[in-house]
Amino acid sequence: MSKSLIVIDDDQVFAELIATVARDEGFETAICNDARDYFKVEQNHSIMVLDLNMPTMDGVEVIRQLGKIGRRIHLILISGYDSGVLHSAEKLAQEHRLTVVGSLQKPLKLVDFISMLNSVEASPPLVKQRVSHDQTPIVSNEILDAIRQQQMVLFYQPQIDLATNKVVGAEALIRWQHPSRGLVPPGMFIEIAEQSGLMGELTSYVIDMAVKQSNKWKKVGIDITISVNVSAENITSLSLPEHLSDLIKDHGLNPQSIILEITESALMGELKTSLDILTRLRMKGFGLSIDDFGTGNSSLVLLHRVPFTELKIDMSFVRYMDTDVDANSIVETCVMLAHKLHMTVVAEGIENTAIQKQLIEMGCDIGQGYEIARPMPAKEFMTWLDTHNAK
Ligand code: C2E
Ligand code: MG
Ligand code: MG
Repeated sequence: MSKSLIVIDDDQVFAELIATVARDEGFETAICNDARDYFKVEQNHSIMVLDLNMPTMDGVEVIRQLGKIGRRIHLILISGYDSGVLHSAEKLAQEHRLTVVGSLQKPLKLVDFISMLNSVEASPPLVKQRVSHDQTPIVSNEILDAIRQQQMVLFYQPQIDLATNKVVGAEALIRWQHPSRGLVPPGMFIEIAEQSGLMGELTSYVIDMAVKQSNKWKKVGIDITISVNVSAENITSLSLPEHLSDLIKDHGLNPQSIILEITESALMGELKTSLDILTRLRMKGFGLSIDDFGTGNSSLVLLHRVPFTELKIDMSFVRYMDTDVDANSIVETCVMLAHKLHMTVVAEGIENTAIQKQLIEMGCDIGQGYEIARPMPAKEFMTWLDTHNAK
């Protein structure tokens, strides 16, 4: 990648200052005072220094536009606003898969800017690695065939009691073991399955596999809960509670060992029907977890109305709680809220020991994340569990 930098700022004096410093650091530079001009021609700079506050097209619009055209560029944000605004702009850029190197406040601190420029050299933009090799679009018929040909497999991610370090559960996460695409993650096919009305069949298959696994573990003395993700479509089927109950009984299991994870957005559509189903599921003894808590629109309304037993704090807060004061406060508040409502609280996305330690201090009950273990096939899970228990 060429070492070139563009400054987008309506403040000509400031833009020139930035460009001069960057040139001294060996960059080719360009200046653009009106962001609209940037998008008129083909550009291939490796870094963009972007002012958020501009009169014609502001920085947030630029970020959105960059995301839309899929431009891979390093961003350094500049703003006279408070850190809250910069923070939101950084998050927005991440959402659009742009790499934010950092942000600068005016007046410029030269040392900070130079060290940002140097850090970019060291790390070219991350291209997300795909496990899958075949890039042709997935169509719904393929998914249906895959379910029927048993190409869908479940990985299990351990959940630990944060206070004791004991493994208390596992979340079942689907993967598609495709003959030519490789291991396809759920993010690449769940939405298509949902749009094509395939979730009934897919979830039945997932629940069936999870229940069988739970039975196998029970037989060898592994007594943990299994959490299964369900979609909106699944909780519109009025016979779900009876069907699940029968399945559990057939396998000699206790309903308390199955937790159904539901995302907030999944519940917003047909709340009346889902409330009926969810209430009957609770009455039958199943655990109900509100997944990705904090990302939907009406979290509190749902908490008030649906008999959840567990609250899973979304990882977009947990992952950053060691470095981001606001994320930390949100997590802490979620822990308190869940406990006030007599719910178990789970933090997902624990990626380092600092986060784990903070969660323990906050009194969070259960933890899940790469720092503890990644999702893995059932066989590996057993080996991992042995090693973990021996520690
Ligand atoms: P989710 O239910 O919120 O699951 C957690 C996701 O976070 C999983 O991604 C897991 O691998 C990932 N994860 C766990 N720990 C960490 C961590 O420390 N850092 C980071 N960055 N990520 C972590 P996965 O397996 O790709 O699943 C993505 C989503 O797909 C799930 O989010 C869930 O909404 C959906 N999904 C997975 N399996 C099923 C299924 O059987 N049925 C349905 N309806 N949805 C499923
Ligand atoms: Mg989940
Ligand atoms: Mg989640």
